[in-house]
Amino acid sequence: MIKIEKDVSLRAYNTFGIEAKARYFCTIRSEDQLIELIDTPEFKNEAHLILGGGSNILFTKDYEGLVIKVNLRGIEITDQTTDTISVNVKSGEVWHEFVMHCVDKQWGGIENLSLIPGTIGAAPIQNIGAYGVELKDVVQRVTGIDLDSGLSQTFTNAECNFGYRESIFKHALKEKIFISSVTLTLTTNNHKLNTSYGAITSVLEEKKISPSIKTISDAVISIRRSKLPDPMTIGNAGSFFKNPTIRLDHFNELKKIHPTIPGYPSENQYVKVPAGWLIEQCNWKGKRFNDVGVHAHQALVLVNYGNGSGEEIFQLAKNISSSVHSTFNIDLTPEVNIL
Ligand SMILES: Cc1cc2nc3c(=O)[nH]c(=O)nc-3n(C[C@H](O)[C@H](O)[C@H](O)COP(=O)(O)OP(=O)(O)OC[C@H]3O[C@@H](n4cnc5c(N)ncnc54)[C@H](O)[C@@H]3O)c2cc1C
Repeated sequence: MIKIEKDVSLRAYNTFGIEAKARYFCTIRSEDQLIELIDTPEFKNEAHLILGGGSNILFTKDYEGLVIKVNLRGIEITDQTTDTISVNVKSGEVWHEFVMHCVDKQWGGIENLSLIPGTIGAAPIQNIGAYGVELKDVVQRVTGIDLDSGLSQTFTNAECNFGYRESIFKHALKEKIFISSVTLTLTTNNHKLNTSYGAITSVLEEKKISPSIKTISDAVISIRRSKLPDPMTIGNAGSFFKNPTIRLDHFNELKKIHPTIPGYPSENQYVKVPAGWLIEQCNWKGKRFNDVGVHAHQALVLVNYGNGSGEEIFQLAKNISSSVHSTFNIDLTPEVNIL
C-alpha cells in the first residue's frame, strides 16, 4: 500500500536547498507502486511532478500538486558481447554511484560523466553531458510507464530525440512518461577513451599518468571539485543556463566589438558561445544579493548561501539574462527546470 503524505517540505529534496512545500508527496519504489498511485484520487485530481535528486530544479513557490519521488533500485546485466556489456539500471539509482560501479568493473563509456549529481532516470531527460561525452553516446533504450494508460513503453536511442541538453522527454512527452529504467551499452574491451577536453589532458600530464577509465574518472572528479560548488555546502543546481548557439554572422559582428569572445563551431553556420563567459563579461561573477548570488569561480552557477528563496534566484536569473541580452543581443535559456 503506497503512502501519500501531505504538506511535505521539499528543502531536503532539491540541491538549491530551497524551502517549498508539496501539497502531496509520495515515494515510488517499484513499477507496481506507480500503477497503484495512478489509480488514487490524488494522482487523478492533482498536477504531478516526478522528482529524482532535485539537482536540476528550482522551486519558486510551493508545489500545489503531487510530488512523485523516484526510488526504484537495481542494476542488471542484460547482454554481453566480446567488447560490450548492456546494463539495465533502475531510475532511482544515483548516477555517480553507478559511474563508480562501472569504473570499478572497468566498464567504459561514462567515466567522463563522473560526479554529476542526480538519478539515472533523470539523465536522459536533458541528455546529461560533460567533458566531451553525453548520455546519448551510451543509451541503448529508455523504459518508462505512460502516466495516462499505465502501460510500459520502451524508447530506442533514436526515439529519444537526444540533442544538447534535450530529449523527447522535455518536449512531446514532458510529464507524460515516468522513466523506470535506462539500459546502457558500455565497453569491456577496446575502450574509446575521450580526452578531448584540455583540462583532462592537463591533469593526466601533470600527474604523469596515462588515460584509463579510472584515471579519466579521477581527473574529472578533481577538476569538478576545484571548479563547482558542492551542493552539500552551497545550494546550487550546476549550470543555470545552457550555452547559447548563435548565427555565424552574429558571432563575427560580436568578435569585432569583443575580440576575445570564445566560440565553438556548431551545426552549419552556427557557433556555440559559453554562457559563463557572457555572464562574466556583464560583471555578475561573484556578485551576492542577500542570500543568493553568482558563484565566485563559475559565473554559470547561481547559488543559495542558505536562506535564499527560489523567487530571488529566479529574479537574479532574469536580471542576468536581460543584461546579457542588452550587451550581446543573445538570449539565454535556463537549463534548470523552473517551477
Ligand atoms: C553541482 C552540479 C553539477 C551539475 N553538472 C552537470 C553536468 O555536468 N552536466 C549535466 O548535464 N547536468 C549537470 N547538473 C544537472 C543535474 O545534475 C542533471 O540534470 C541530473 O540529471 C538531474 O538529475 P535529478 O535526478 O536530480 O533530476 P531532478 O532535478 O529531480 O529532475 C530533473 C527533471 O527530470 C524529471 N525527472 C526526474 N526523474 C524522472 C523520471 N524517473 N521520469 C521522468 N521524469 C523525471 C523531473 O520532473 C525534472 O523535470 C549538475 C547539477 C549540479 C547540482
